[in-house]
Amino acid sequence: MYDIAVIGGGINGCGIARDAVGRGYSVCLAEMSDLASGTSSWSTKLIHGGLRYLEHYEFRLVRESLEEREVLWAMAPHIVRPMRFVLPHHSGLRPAWLLRLGLFLYDHLGGRKLLPPTRVLNLTSDEAGAPLKAVFRKGFEYSDCWVDDARLVVLNARDAANRGADIHTRTQVVKAVREDGHWRVTLRDLRTGAERDIEARLLVNAAGPWVDRVLGETFGRNGARNVRLVQGSHIVVPKLYDHDRSYIFQNSDGRIFFAIPYERDFTLIGTTDRDYQGDPAKVAITPEESAYLCAAAGEYFKRQVAVDDIVWTYSGVRPLFDDGASKAQEATRDYVLREEGDPESGVLVNIFGGKLTTYRRLANSVMKKIEAALGSKGPEWSGSEPLPGGDFPVLEFAGRLQALKQKYPFLDDGTALRIERQFGTLAETILGNAKALSDLGRDFGAGLTEAEVRYLMSREWAVTAEDILWRRSKLGLRLSKAQVDALESYMAEVSSRAA
Ligand code: FAD
Repeated sequence: MYDIAVIGGGINGCGIARDAVGRGYSVCLAEMSDLASGTSSWSTKLIHGGLRYLEHYEFRLVRESLEEREVLWAMAPHIVRPMRFVLPHHSGLRPAWLLRLGLFLYDHLGGRKLLPPTRVLNLTSDEAGAPLKAVFRKGFEYSDCWVDDARLVVLNARDAANRGADIHTRTQVVKAVREDGHWRVTLRDLRTGAERDIEARLLVNAAGPWVDRVLGETFGRNGARNVRLVQGSHIVVPKLYDHDRSYIFQNSDGRIFFAIPYERDFTLIGTTDRDYQGDPAKVAITPEESAYLCAAAGEYFKRQVAVDDIVWTYSGVRPLFDDGASKAQEATRDYVLREEGDPESGVLVNIFGGKLTTYRRLANSVMKKIEAALGSKGPEWSGSEPLPGGDFPVLEFAGRLQALKQKYPFLDDGTALRIERQFGTLAETILGNAKALSDLGRDFGAGLTEAEVRYLMSREWAVTAEDILWRRSKLGLRLSKAQVDALESYMAEVSSRAA
């Protein structure tokens, strides 16, 4: 009998599993697909206060989010990094005094110790102005953080497993019934079709955009309608500029969007906001969204962005708590927890909404509900322990990268940076005593070797080439179809040998 069973291996499910097992509860987590295959790998990847939410007076959410920036950076300085955002003033849109006021609050609301403060930019002389049209003469620059969202999920899952949680991927929760004061939960292995039951004293429904569907199909609660699904899409184009800062732009429709340096050679542009009704697993960018993002970027950059420039796109569905807002972009980004049942019959905690940025705070709030139902076991801890590979001081990243290059001089610069960012202090677990790339086994292309693939399969639940190329890394941007097929066959062979 587990204390807690968690449905869903996105950031919220994995964050809750980590926090709970670290406090001493026994935990089982089931994810029906790959970890982070839902919304959690389709985000803009910002650990941010959310400048825009100030306009909706969401001060608690903004403060909590701002505070999380440096907490998460310290927990995972390999996959989280500070980023400066350039906000050009656009005459005719929000006035400069309003931007200045928003940024003043942003700087002072909470938690900023190492991140540099806001400054005013003269875009006619600063290099950030160079790629922009000449009409943009003045701007502001402020701090937030960037995170590899899919790896944030997997590292939370890895840490939870290291501490004793059972993590099952490709495993769908198909039924949950109350029985003698606990839950009997039926898990289906989606690779074999085999079903088995587990028992848990408390259930957490962290199924993100599927949360209402789980309430209906798994708990037989028809007609549940708590979340509003809002699609957001991004486009990736060859890089539009050379410096390492991002842009936050205002569009004439009142929305804001970002242009972010991405995977060394690209620029990420997004996002859109549109209500979505279909299956969250099938969401894809529409031609209108692609055109909208290209046109919006063209408003600011000298170089026009055409639909033909797009090398990759991705779309995700925000599972926003349905607060009755009329416009998708106005629906609250805050999270809401709803608890049902009692300890005598078995408690269910449902999670609606939330952001990547606040996942740890959300988990902390879930712990309060768990403690009330099951009794307290351990103190709050999740912000003071590093995630796997993140056990080094935040300002030492550059020095560590240099040391990695010295120890493994055969790695090209791009691969060394990728490995240090993905694995931090665990990089040497993969690279070992290698003296040449060939010591790491087969080379699948773009610096991906057999040693890394084996590590990702044995320690990070990777099963398919897609898991590795689009979630454990973004090497999918660089591998050819033939290379992807070769990786797929290799992984299938390793899995069949292990079975
Ligand atoms: P998910 O990641 O979707 O996880 C739910 C999981 O449950 C899925 O993996 C699914 O497969 C699984 N599941 C469903 N049903 C079952 C079942 N029956 N059995 C087992 N498993 C099941 N937040 C930020 O902080 N910063 C940003 O920059 C940002 N940008 C965003 C941009 C976009 C376009 C979008 C869409 C969101 C963005 N967000 C951002 C929000 C953030 O990504 C989400 O709030 C967060 O990822 C939600 O995580 P989750 O764990 O609730 O859901």
